[in-house]
Amino acid sequence: MIVEEGKIKILAPNVNLRGPGKIEGVFYNRAMVFNRDTSIFLLYNLRVKNALDALAATGVRGIRFAKELGIETTINDKDSRAVEIIKKNLELNNVEARVTNRDANALMIEEKYNYVDIDPFGTPVPFIDSAILSGKIIGITATDTATLGGRNRRIVRRYLADVCAPTELVHEIGIRVLLGYIGRMAVRFDLGIEPIISIWQGHFYRVYVRIKKGVSKANATLEKIKNTEFGGPIWVGEMHDFSFLKNSKIPEWLPTKKILEKYLSIWKNEKFFLFYHLPSISSELRVSTPSPRQIIENLKEQGYEAYPTQFSPQGIRSNAPVDVLKDIIKSA
Ligand code: SAM
Repeated sequence: MIVEEGKIKILAPNVNLRGPGKIEGVFYNRAMVFNRDTSIFLLYNLRVKNALDALAATGVRGIRFAKELGIETTINDKDSRAVEIIKKNLELNNVEARVTNRDANALMIEEKYNYVDIDPFGTPVPFIDSAILSGKIIGITATDTATLGGRNRRIVRRYLADVCAPTELVHEIGIRVLLGYIGRMAVRFDLGIEPIISIWQGHFYRVYVRIKKGVSKANATLEKIKNTEFGGPIWVGEMHDFSFLKNSKIPEWLPTKKILEKYLSIWKNEKFFLFYHLPSISSELRVSTPSPRQIIENLKEQGYEAYPTQFSPQGIRSNAPVDVLKDIIKSA
């Protein structure tokens, strides 16, 4: 089957149209177009020179890097059937890239890249160490979202964390477990991390992180990883690089441009540690839930910062104390 995505066409022996998850053989996952578009968005704005698509399957992501952005790209998969298809797909798109048939960890330990992409089935844990050592910037997908959010407290320990958060907060806690884990793995090598974009989209988490050299960067990273009232260790720093987001542009041709526009408008202001979930606070106060937009306006009128969040349409992020927020909800 031939599918089109962005500026390329892909020969895909197996197509998954529903959601993530492993099906037999080399497959193309339609549900991950937005995930791939975010990497095109990032690399387009950062003007990255070379990249590794370490777990490539059909090669769709790496071929898009090469074709849409002209980036010098290495496309890798340990499955030889995938490698055959990647080569055919490069021909189909009349574009060149280096193709390797290696274990991703072995390759990343040997070679350095401006950007490394890790897009595994399920947990990225087995690839994090070598990605940190290989890339100046790394993009990491995790589809074990329930685990990361602490729904399974035994398995979340694979991230060397133990968290237990109220349902409304689990998605943000999960992404902070992931960032905290990447940060702690980095500091072992005297490296630090700086998140550029952190994304939750139901099926997956996706984080883009700069790897910074030096003890001072490692120490600064450790200071942002703590235990909290919801357990830990988790990342308690900012999840996004606001100056990057403010100056970034969305390439016109992206298939999920509209969705990305919505996310970008939220990410640009998605500050502070955790958010207030208005239905929970309203139910505690025994009043009906006001519209988040109205509460954001009211908080701003009182001189506080207040913004929406990607983690809940009913959530708001603010530097206002909870008592101020409660007074505003009661009088709304
Ligand atoms: N990035 C692809 C995309 O956007 O369509 C999807 C990648 S798929 C989820 C994961 C791929 O990783 C599979 O093709 C699998 O063969 C490959 N893989 C798994 N373990 C690997 C390893 N240790 N080294 C290299 N490739 C590996």
